[in-house]
Amino acid sequence: MRRTIGKTEWVRRLLTAIEREHWSKVLIVALLLLALYVYNGFHRSTGVPLYGEGMPDISRSAVVHYINVGQADAACIVLPGGEVLLIDAGANASEPQLLAYLERYGISRIDCLVLTHPHEDHIGGADAVLEAYDVKSVLLTSAEATSTTYDHLLTCIEDEGSVVYIASPGDRYTFGEASFSVLGPHGDTWESLNNASIVLRFDFGDTSFLFTGDAESEEEAAVLSYDIKSVSADVLKVAHHGSQTSTTRAFLDAVAPRIAVISCGTYNEYGHPHDSVIDSLTAHTSHILRTDQHGSIRIYTDGERLWAQGDS
Ligand SMILES: [Zn+2]
Repeated sequence: MRRTIGKTEWVRRLLTAIEREHWSKVLIVALLLLALYVYNGFHRSTGVPLYGEGMPDISRSAVVHYINVGQADAACIVLPGGEVLLIDAGANASEPQLLAYLERYGISRIDCLVLTHPHEDHIGGADAVLEAYDVKSVLLTSAEATSTTYDHLLTCIEDEGSVVYIASPGDRYTFGEASFSVLGPHGDTWESLNNASIVLRFDFGDTSFLFTGDAESEEEAAVLSYDIKSVSADVLKVAHHGSQTSTTRAFLDAVAPRIAVISCGTYNEYGHPHDSVIDSLTAHTSHILRTDQHGSIRIYTDGERLWAQGDS
């Protein structure tokens, strides 16, 4: 006589089979799923590793955020003491991305807003930043622009009541254990506003980062003849979005970066970064990080070592 098995019996038999014969396989699958979950969660919260082994001690590290603002520039330095410097503020069109990114990383104040030069792709988002944040001070180049964006910026700075500094080579600012040195611009008249870009060096412990705005070969030569040793840096924000107007061999030899960061838009109309610049950079480092490929990039430093990660 054929015996029928009820649902409860099937479940009991299944559990018994798993317990007796397959429990180790089930355990392995469960552990793999757990590892995948942790791995995905880790990448969601910290990004894709691009440079450096392990993870930094966040509590005593400074972090430089190269924010993906398309064909524009914006970098945010957050120091262990909580001080925040924003170097350029992207374009008008990238204001939402910039503000969303700053909010995502819990930025609540800006100690110094550095605007390297008054082109729209560097100052366009500054009005929104000045409206959204308490901006204690602003560092400007002495070159002025004749544009409604620039006029509006000056009005916003005045309304905010920020202390305004004009960058001059040799100036040095300190925030806790970090220091910022102005290496350019040089002169007082410029054919191109790009060559009036503030060139700024950030030192934290034994590590250093160079910010170049859109400086072209003319300004690079001026910076080198002013103090060639001062430009040596671990991380170079490649000038002018990787344009061939900039990043001469002589300048790159003097900087000798371990990591190069390019801020540019995906399939931008200028063809940035240019192949000749990529070739020059490749001769110095295999770590060329690009916002059009990696999204926003974060580089951590504990004063000795560097770690980089990207959004993608
Ligand atoms: Zn630019």
